[in-house]
Amino acid sequence: MTEHLELRAYGKINLGLDVVRKREDGYHEVRMIMQTVGLYDRIIMERRNRPGIRVETNLPYVPSGEGNLAWRAAKLLTDEFELENGVYISIWKKIPVAGGMAGGSTDAAAVLVGMNRLFRLGLSKRALMERGVRLGADVPYCILRGTALSEGIGERLTPLPPAPDCCVLLAKPQISVSTKAVYGNLKVDELLPAQHPDISGMEKAIRDGSLDGVLERLGNVLETVTIPAHPEIGRIKEFMLQNGAAGALMSGSGPTVFGLFKGQEAAKAAFHALRQAEEGRLARQVYLTRLFRPGGNDRREGRSR
Ligand code: ATP
Repeated sequence: MTEHLELRAYGKINLGLDVVRKREDGYHEVRMIMQTVGLYDRIIMERRNRPGIRVETNLPYVPSGEGNLAWRAAKLLTDEFELENGVYISIWKKIPVAGGMAGGSTDAAAVLVGMNRLFRLGLSKRALMERGVRLGADVPYCILRGTALSEGIGERLTPLPPAPDCCVLLAKPQISVSTKAVYGNLKVDELLPAQHPDISGMEKAIRDGSLDGVLERLGNVLETVTIPAHPEIGRIKEFMLQNGAAGALMSGSGPTVFGLFKGQEAAKAAFHALRQAEEGRLARQVYLTRLFRPGGNDRREGRSR
């Protein structure tokens, strides 16, 4: 029986993010075009003979143990299936933390998938997604992966055909934003019609395989809150556009910015330029990757021994 698993927990960007309304219970109803990217956290899981869940990460500021969403994912299945064996989980984080790329959610999603395999629980992807939503609204999407329309509070998913391929430059400035605070400061009723991104048009462009259609409609309503508070986000977007990006946008509630490039050479040049900009101060974490295609760039995932 498999005792050891290596998994990749991929990050996401939002090609489109709209907030439709604030519900009476305080939650925001969203319409988002979710897209997995090739940047991932590496997760190693080991089944142990004695009970107990242990989570460790390579970053001192990410909680180990119970504070980690991955721990809660393992706990959820351990309790439900009354598992007697424990599990050791090691997370090597590469996805910017608190960056708007669903880093914690994707680690939790990977751990649900890993627990299912390590302990032969026999749960379908759908069954794992149903459990994932208890950990966070983005967790089901992180299990699904690829390109998807996300509605409701983020839990209602419609898979879409893969978005047209392109290179992705990711950059996170050295600032922290709280997702809760960003949504809290969004005045949905005061938004102008032009501030709402065209999510239905974006969905159609993806179905038509039109990269230009996607690029024309890149939009994130949360930029109206985050960019005035943190002008460096706007400066990174501007830098990417001036250095060959065909489009640039903040992901999720930020502060990570992504730029989309039609060609690899232009993307590489912008990557190097951004790393040097202001002697590396404009953005400390800069990554070059591609859109993730299920079954495409994940062939080496899930190795076990
Ligand atoms: P989202 O895009 O879903 O709003 P995010 O990418 O902005 O999320 P995360 O990277 O998930 O934010 O981190 C948010 C907080 O969650 C962090 O400050 C951290 O303390 C906590 N956390 C718990 N588990 C993890 C994990 N496995 N990886 C990263 N952060 C985690």
